[in-house]
Amino acid sequence: MAGQRILFWPCNKQGAPMASHYKNIVILTGAGISAESGISTFRDSNGLWENHDVMEVASPQGFSANPSLVYRFYNERKKQLQSIEVKPNLAHEALVELQSKLPGNVTIVTQNVDDLHERSGSRDVIHMHGELLKSRCLKTEQIFKTLGDIDELSICECCQTPGNLRPHIVWFGEIPMFMNQIESLLHEADLFLSIGTSGQVYPASMFVQIAKLGNECKTVEVNVEETAVSWNFDEKVQGPAGETVPVIVENILKGHF
Ligand code: NAD
Repeated sequence: MAGQRILFWPCNKQGAPMASHYKNIVILTGAGISAESGISTFRDSNGLWENHDVMEVASPQGFSANPSLVYRFYNERKKQLQSIEVKPNLAHEALVELQSKLPGNVTIVTQNVDDLHERSGSRDVIHMHGELLKSRCLKTEQIFKTLGDIDELSICECCQTPGNLRPHIVWFGEIPMFMNQIESLLHEADLFLSIGTSGQVYPASMFVQIAKLGNECKTVEVNVEETAVSWNFDEKVQGPAGETVPVIVENILKGHF
């Protein structure tokens, strides 16, 4: 793995590797962790997301200007997400293993709106930017699981009025969800892993700094390339998440990380 640091393997007196000492791991994931599952990121394509300007399809202004386009865009993303080709990859699966085998707490905070963490079996996933397979009533704020299309004529279950449903997505310019909870988790974290995120979207780009304010937290970035915030991390692991994350998880569980 190009760019990967040399791992230090602590051993007990008998020479056997020690189990992980981490008690509170927080893992931030971004579009890069789902890239090998066939869902494209947008930072790699000059600000275009599936050939659309992100501000046209992922901002309140874009929604007001052209709601049909925004509904169509998210309906397409939902179809893609539920297509047979898209499934969790080895990185998602490795995080499930970490959550099930580490005696401490492992919380996944994702910027992704896909459900690949849940589909692979991860629990307690915090979706700070919303979820593609949900919609929300503009009037009552109620959230509904919505696997099919929605549009201007869709009727919400709560107020039975057409035109009140929008994708349950945090658009650019809106406030991400669960921020107080995420901040507390970061303060308690002793390991912060950031996987497949460009560090260009606020406030997730600040999480590494918040984690460092807490308990001697080790911070590690996993990406295929340098990012805007790479300099802030203690360590960087370079390579595709599907290859690097399983190795990192194996080493954490063996106490080698
Ligand atoms: P981004 O598109 O800005 O950046 C993706 C990052 O992933 C880049 O730094 C890239 O170098 C890295 N990357 C690409 N392939 C990788 C791989 N195989 N392994 C490891 N890293 C890889 O994504 P972001 O930082 O998450 O911010 C984008 C916003 O776009 C988020 O708010 C999210 O809601 C939305 N988005 C979500 C999805 C999704 O749900 N899967 C997809 C596209 C965009």
